[in-house]
Amino acid sequence: MVLAGIWHNLVDYLLPPVCGSCGEVVQQSQGVCADCWGKLTFLGDPCCLCCGYPFELSLGKDALCGACSGRPKAFDRCRAALSYDACSKDMIIGYKHADRTHLTEIFARWMSGAGREFWNSADVLVPVPLHPRRLLSRRYNQSALLAKVLARQHNKVFVPDLLLRRKNTVSQGQLSSSGRWRNVAGAFEVNPVRKINLDGKNILLIDDVYTTGATVDACSRILRKEGAGSVCALVLARVLREG
Ligand SMILES: [Zn+2]
Ligand SMILES: [Zn+2]
Repeated sequence: MVLAGIWHNLVDYLLPPVCGSCGEVVQQSQGVCADCWGKLTFLGDPCCLCCGYPFELSLGKDALCGACSGRPKAFDRCRAALSYDACSKDMIIGYKHADRTHLTEIFARWMSGAGREFWNSADVLVPVPLHPRRLLSRRYNQSALLAKVLARQHNKVFVPDLLLRRKNTVSQGQLSSSGRWRNVAGAFEVNPVRKINLDGKNILLIDDVYTTGATVDACSRILRKEGAGSVCALVLARVLREG
């Protein structure tokens, strides 16, 4: 323990903790500096019962947003910790592409709060997978890092490779809304090697960013086909559109 403390101090001295969003040096590895903390938008109630889209006023606890009433989702519920905006975007891109994996613990803490309604019922935590080729170039799957910490915190079964991405889809970021739905259609499968009985199980999918819901929806569809009782999703951030 003493050695671990000395090591931490040494690491902080050599590599002082920086804000995950703007890169400023901060006093403690709390993830973000006070300025950036003030700019982050945390999401909560009232929101769409299904996708968690925030409402300005409460419309009743069963209210759905326009997108969910227009296109019923294959997942039961999705909740997000943050709004995906200029401030959270820098932080999440750094987390995905620049090895800022030290942010995992703080992100998991935020997600744990956003997903509080899931912790009683969830049986298995499953990350949205990367295609093996992308995993090779990035070296880690950010969603799997988050799922692992959340599963440990809440004493849940964690199956990192329950889902496989069989199509190396183009990055969703470059696509239109309808393009995103087409892009992920048929992209996932349940890993044939994982002989887990999903009958009636409550699955909690973990992902970093929810844009149109197409990815989470595609994963949920596959899990339901394999017998999952419910599929919910917990993401770090979600895109909010006007209206
Ligand atoms: Zn900052
Ligand atoms: Zn919705």
